[in-house]
Amino acid sequence: MDNNISGKTVIITGASSGIGEATARLLAARGARLVLGARREDRLNTIVEAIRKDGGQAIAQALDVTSPDSNAAIVERAKAEFGRIDAIFLNAGLMPNSPISALKTDEWRQMVDVNISGVLNGVAAVMPTFVAQKSGHVIATSSVAGLKAYPTTGVYCGTKWFVRAFMEVLRMESANEGTNIRTATIYPAAINTELLDTISHAGVSEGMRALYNQYGIAPERVADVVAYALNLPADTTVNEFTIGPANQP
Ligand code: NDP
Repeated sequence: MDNNISGKTVIITGASSGIGEATARLLAARGARLVLGARREDRLNTIVEAIRKDGGQAIAQALDVTSPDSNAAIVERAKAEFGRIDAIFLNAGLMPNSPISALKTDEWRQMVDVNISGVLNGVAAVMPTFVAQKSGHVIATSSVAGLKAYPTTGVYCGTKWFVRAFMEVLRMESANEGTNIRTATIYPAAINTELLDTISHAGVSEGMRALYNQYGIAPERVADVVAYALNLPADTTVNEFTIGPANQP
């Protein structure tokens, strides 16, 4: 099989655990040059060390996706280290679900800041580089919650529906403008990661944990999808992937 991943420079946000970490490990094994971003630098450093021990190329950069400056800094670091950027995987996210009536307004704001503004900040930071290069690939993690709505996920669903809409417009405008920026949006269902740790509502946490215990699959399965998108030849794109446990209704 062709390896179109080898030598590509890829920024991954939310690389310190779960889907981002699994993707980092897989892309490194396929020869990508990685810039890993998240807030927990200790976790990033451990992942980078393991990748390098296996002969891969990766660097860690502290990143808070809610800050435009922090996003600009990771883009500059990637260019300084590797000379160009081929793709950005906008994956950082939070899911502190609760009923709307619980009025956990601080958590609503956090989700908007990370899941929506985080994506916007990432695109704003990398877009000038992609336009100057006349190529780039934006991959984003939405969710099945970006396709449907479920009780207790009102704000989370809203943020993930946003990602879906924004990515679709980015795809269309990039085609119209001839910038050669490809997009791929991923809609995972239950994936076993640390995401449920962000839920502070006891009843919702219990329910979600029961669901994930029954159905959850490994984050490596989502990493496979990211690798599939990145491996496509330059004239081809798969814009949307829905992925989850085979037995989850
Ligand atoms: P994890 O909790 O394991 O990973 C979330 C990542 O986001 C961590 O690396 C975390 O790093 C990072 N992150 C959170 N806040 C920020 C911030 N302000 N700045 C930078 N990074 C941040 O969960 P997942 O791997 O599951 O989540 C990855 C994505 O997948 C999310 O967007 C999530 O919504 C989505 N998703 C997950 C599903 C699942 O079932 N697990 C299903 C559908 C979608 P740190 O705390 O170190 O900053």
